[in-house]
Amino acid sequence: MPESFNCSTDVAIVGGGPAGLMLAIELGCRGIPCVLIEENLNAPAFPKANATSARTMEHYRRRGLSVAMRATGLVADHPQDIVYCTRLSGRELTRFTMPSRAEALHQTSFGDYGEDAWPTPELPHRGNQMLMEPILRAHLATMPSVKLMLGYRATALSQNDTKLSLEITNTQTQEVSHLTARYAVGCDGPRSMVRKSLGIKFGGVSEESRDFFGGQMLSVYFKSKNLYDVLGKKKAWQYWAINPVQRGLLMAINGIDSFLFGLQLKPGQTAETVDYQAAMLAAIGKSFDFALIAKAPWNAGFTLVAEKMSKGRVFLAGDAAHLFTPTSGMGYNTSVDDAVNLGWKLAAVLQGCAGEALLDSYDAERRPIAHRNTAYARSMADSIGLIKIAPTVDDDDVDAAHIRADLGAALAVHVRREFNAPGLHLGLRYEDSPIIASESGAWPADLPGEYFPSARPGARAPHIWLDIDGKKTALFDLFGRDFTLLTFNHSANKEWLQAAQDMGLPLVILPLDDNKARDLYDADLVLVRPDHHIAWRGDVTAHPAAVLALVTRF
Ligand SMILES: Cc1cc2nc3c(=O)[nH]c(=O)nc-3n(C[C@H](O)[C@H](O)[C@H](O)COP(=O)(O)OP(=O)(O)OC[C@H]3O[C@@H](n4cnc5c(N)ncnc54)[C@H](O)[C@@H]3O)c2cc1C
Repeated sequence: MPESFNCSTDVAIVGGGPAGLMLAIELGCRGIPCVLIEENLNAPAFPKANATSARTMEHYRRRGLSVAMRATGLVADHPQDIVYCTRLSGRELTRFTMPSRAEALHQTSFGDYGEDAWPTPELPHRGNQMLMEPILRAHLATMPSVKLMLGYRATALSQNDTKLSLEITNTQTQEVSHLTARYAVGCDGPRSMVRKSLGIKFGGVSEESRDFFGGQMLSVYFKSKNLYDVLGKKKAWQYWAINPVQRGLLMAINGIDSFLFGLQLKPGQTAETVDYQAAMLAAIGKSFDFALIAKAPWNAGFTLVAEKMSKGRVFLAGDAAHLFTPTSGMGYNTSVDDAVNLGWKLAAVLQGCAGEALLDSYDAERRPIAHRNTAYARSMADSIGLIKIAPTVDDDDVDAAHIRADLGAALAVHVRREFNAPGLHLGLRYEDSPIIASESGAWPADLPGEYFPSARPGARAPHIWLDIDGKKTALFDLFGRDFTLLTFNHSANKEWLQAAQDMGLPLVILPLDDNKARDLYDADLVLVRPDHHIAWRGDVTAHPAAVLALVTRF
């Protein structure tokens, strides 16, 4: 890309974090011209999100990326457990056991709830965002319709009824160029220039104070050759120090020698002056060899959602639209889910097989999810951040042993709620969406800790393993890239195909003769959207053109 340019595109994406990269992939896989503007030349080299949800892994699977993603992070047989200790080299209070990534690949149960609790072809994965973003970038580089503009900052945005224009500054030469687009998406993180230029405010709670995960935090990224030996216990992914002197969270990054330690600054401390090595020593309880890679301050205690996720031809996705405290690991995952929701809609409108009103459903569907997910993250931050710790918790007497047993029991409840949350990740649904064929009757409860498979329009299409020619196959893998009509009665298939062709809508017909799947989906015909949410279900008497028009606003 030349230093200075003036060009136009269909979609301008500002920001190349997980939201922007995934959105560009969703557009690029459908051949939609788009430009992704990212101020950093290289993907970040500092750890942030560590928890890739089952739902995000399903999205990666659909784009053929889940195997590469699962190959990142902890070494294959490293336990992904979460352990709570008084000091990290000392007593364990409780431990939540999770499968290693080698085990997850072979579908063993997640946590100690059993296989049926997480019906998905992709169990959650622990691999850091900084290891995943390069995979997304590399995938984009293979997509001819996507232009990656790395090292460029979007510095202004303006739109009127007919035109949308972005001012772009080369971060090295400061040269200014202009880009016009039919649509723009602000994926530019919490300080979003795009959101501010639209005059959209965040609503919610800021800077909540807690003993942990409520205040100014400092992340310390380091290497250590002997830390696992010093910890002296079965390996884990997360180690929480729960004592009255120094709380902290240690995270294994590669399962060999790199780690991230998070501490919360105490009153009077700053990120520059805090003796973070002393804090780490107090949390770990024994000395260990240590080589700093980098450190970074950040703030915990935000539960914010934008008042709107779109205005005119401009949309907001990811942290630009919602801000979390990282408990329960929903910030990055909600961002990827936004991108997947918006990507197919923009593509359908630009390809002329959906009406522009389809785009209104983005805010209608995603803002309630942003409220749902941020509220859950906040409740988990309260649950761990406000937990009471007795001053004598690490003493050697019998009373202290009782205190530890009670604390361990409370933490065991907490950890299950935070990490064994199949309902949170798989049970999300678009109940009041204007582009689904709603059904009467009650939805199953939306409980974070329990997932109730449902094929009601609006729900994520439930997963089932099928036996296809003797091969265990995920139903998801048979769905098309765009809309799929799953049929258990095939007599109207031709009419559906014709109706889709008349609209120019890509539709895959998936005839299936499988009683278990029929029972799960509870209808003869089921229309599944490109993001694998159910759009409609019914029988062969339905009018295909009317259904397709409803779900695309054609
Ligand atoms: C310490 C920490 C731990 C976390 N842990 C988790 C976790 O375990 N699980 C989880 O789900 N989430 C976690 N998160 C949150 C997660 O990192 C974010 O939610 C996620 O990065 C959001 O993705 P995004 O693409 O919306 O924004 P970002 O990742 O912030 O990306 C925005 C991009 O836009 C670029 N940009 C900004 N302005 C401009 C501009 N004007 N022009 C061009 N480019 C611009 C930035 O350089 C950046 O690359 C954590 C966050 C932190 C800080």
